[in-house]
This record gives sequence, C-alpha cells and structure tokens, in this order.
Amino acid sequence: MSSGAPTEAASTPVSPETVLPAPALPTLKDARRLVVKIGSALLVDSTSGQIRRAWLDALADDVAAARARGTEVVIVTSGAVAAGREHLGLVGRPLRLEEKQAAAATGQIRLAHAYQETLARHGITVAQVLLTLEDTEERRRHLNGRATIDTLLKLGAIPVINENDTVATAEIRFGDNDRLAARVAQMISADTLVLLSDIDGLYTADPRKDPGAAHIPVVRELTPEIEGMAGEPPPGYSSGGMVTKIAAARIAMSGGCRMVIARGNRLNPLGALETATADGGALCTWFLPASEPSSARKAWIAGHLKAEGVLTVDNGAAVALKQGASLLPAGVVAVDGSFDRGDTVIVRDEEGRELARGISAYGAGEARRILRRKSHEIEAILGYRGRNEMIHRDDLVVR
Ligand code: GLU
Repeated sequence: MSSGAPTEAASTPVSPETVLPAPALPTLKDARRLVVKIGSALLVDSTSGQIRRAWLDALADDVAAARARGTEVVIVTSGAVAAGREHLGLVGRPLRLEEKQAAAATGQIRLAHAYQETLARHGITVAQVLLTLEDTEERRRHLNGRATIDTLLKLGAIPVINENDTVATAEIRFGDNDRLAARVAQMISADTLVLLSDIDGLYTADPRKDPGAAHIPVVRELTPEIEGMAGEPPPGYSSGGMVTKIAAARIAMSGGCRMVIARGNRLNPLGALETATADGGALCTWFLPASEPSSARKAWIAGHLKAEGVLTVDNGAAVALKQGASLLPAGVVAVDGSFDRGDTVIVRDEEGRELARGISAYGAGEARRILRRKSHEIEAILGYRGRNEMIHRDDLVVR
C-alpha cells in the first residue's frame, strides 16, 4: 500500500457523524472563572481526622498555576465536620445534627488555617465565606453575596466557601457541598465548576456494584435516563453521592456553567484535568450547558432548592408555557402551600410532572381566589388591579 492510499477507516463506509471532526470540547485551561469543590473524603483522613496536608499542598499548587494564567478561582470546601469531630471526641458513631454543627464549628477553623497556610506559600490571600441556603435563595442576600465574592476576586483573594453549618437547620440546609458549589457558580456567573470526588464521573450504573457499568464522558442534557443513573450516596463522611452531583449539574447548566466530575484522590487533580478533554484522555464526565445561557435572574430561579408552593395548571396552559408564554390565572387549576407574592413556586401539570419554576405575582390566598378566572376579572375579585399574569414569563423557567 502506498503512503497515499486511503486508511482503513476512510475506506470503510461510515456515517457522516463519524467522519466529521468532534466539536471542540473544553479543558480546564479554558476556564476564566472557576469554582472547585473539594469533598471531605479527599481532604480529611477518615481515621485520624487530620487534614491531608500533602494532598492540599499539591492542590494549592494547581490553584496557583491556574491563577498564574489568569483564571479566577473560588474554592468550595467540605471537611469542617470531618476535621472537627475528633477534637470534640465525637468518633465511632453517626452524629446528630447538633453534634455535626458543633464539629463543624471546630473543624472550620482548622480548614481555614490549612487553606491560608498552603496558599500563602504562593503569596495568595484567602477569604472565608460561610453561606446558608437562604443566603443563596433570597434575592437580596444572593446579590449581596455575589458582590462580596466579586470584590474578593477583584482584589486577588481566593474565596474559600463552606456552608455555615453551625446555624443552618435541617430543613434549610444544603447539607451537601455539591449543590452549594453549583449555586455559588451560578451566583457569581462562573463558567466552569469542578467537583473533585472519589469517583471519576458518571456511569450507566453504580460501578461499585455493577462491573458492566460504562463511563459517560459527556452529558449535554439532563434527561430522566441520566438522572436515573445516579445511585445511592456512598457510606462514610461524604453527604453527596451522584444524586446531589446531578442536581448540581442542573443548577450549574441552567446558569450556563459547564461542570466536570473528576477523581480527586490523587495528587494534583486539577493539573491532570487540564490535559483532559471531554472526548477522551483522563477519565471525567463533562456536563455541557446549551450554548445560550439563561439570564442571571432566570438562572437564580432555576437553581432554587426550596419552593414555597405548587401551582397545578391545565393542559392548555402547559402547552403555552412550553412555547414561552406567561402563566395566566385562567390556566391554574389548583394552588398548594402557603406562599407570599414574590416567592418561588413549582408549576406542575395535572399528572403531577414539574413543568417550570417561577416567582408568583400573587400570594397563595389571592392565587386561590383568582384561579381559573380571566385576568380582567382580577380587580373585581381582589379589589385592586394586580398583575395580569400569575407568573410573568420573565419570572418563569420552564424545565
Ligand atoms: N459542610 C460540610 C462540612 O464542611 C460538608 C457537606 C458535604 O459533605 O458536602 O463538613
């Protein structure tokens, strides 16, 4: 065969998809504003409760390298509970919520010191930011948090963020830093979120149980099938597991942020990811958002973890919503929950499927009075001229 002869691949009949070059996929080097989430199991030794300094130092070297090429970096770290429980004698058994909170109060100081010391080796200042779920869900606090983190980045500091575990109560906790990190990424309009984990991405089934499970390198849409691939959370210190990682992907992608799940239990995990692209190389799973990111306000709505109520709508309204219309009172058939005007609610169809999330222009009591009614009747029913829409399309995010 001469050197000009067609290769085996070219002479075999193939579909056009096979011969077209794969679209350019990101690497970590493309990140401009990067959020890195570090899990407890990576950072803290589960038997001694000590922070793994060699691992953290290597990670800090990666972070410093990313910064040196102009990437802004925010760290979301777990490990406060894990690093604190030993010091309070809370070992060998599962902890109650208030014990976890006590452990976090002790461990958080240790975490902060460890990050401060390791990044000081590179002349980088760190800043501690502790957030609760409500800080991210309440619009004014959300915007304020964003302004503070933006300012820290402009001043060259690295925000080191964790949940404010000591004050967060069970009902209003993130409880896992996967979703917290995604919410932070969405809050500050980051373009890349890295979840460092003890697993190298998403598999078709739980690879610890099913040897036939296949690794998935790229996810472009969170279909029910993808959501179904998330197994149960692993035992041990971590609160996450694949379920919260998929939830994180939904939040990040709605904010136009790509997310990658990669194995962190090796030295310099970010360095390894820099050479990994989504079409091969080091194992990881990229979640790539649609090219058009939604507005920052819509991303904030879509990322809500807590909804105060549910509006059930008829089929006509369900179709109209999918076409981009506002939700009118006439299309609402039931109102559940107690919520105020301005609260986030879930919109469901009559089969109970979630269609959208949005900000209600009416409180639950008023909404019940005007459901199934025409907008021009609102004034006569409520005694004032409110908005024509139950949820305006600018305040609505359809799934
Ligand atoms: N905020 C918790 C901690 O720092 C961790 C939550 C999680 O495991 O993701 O200990």
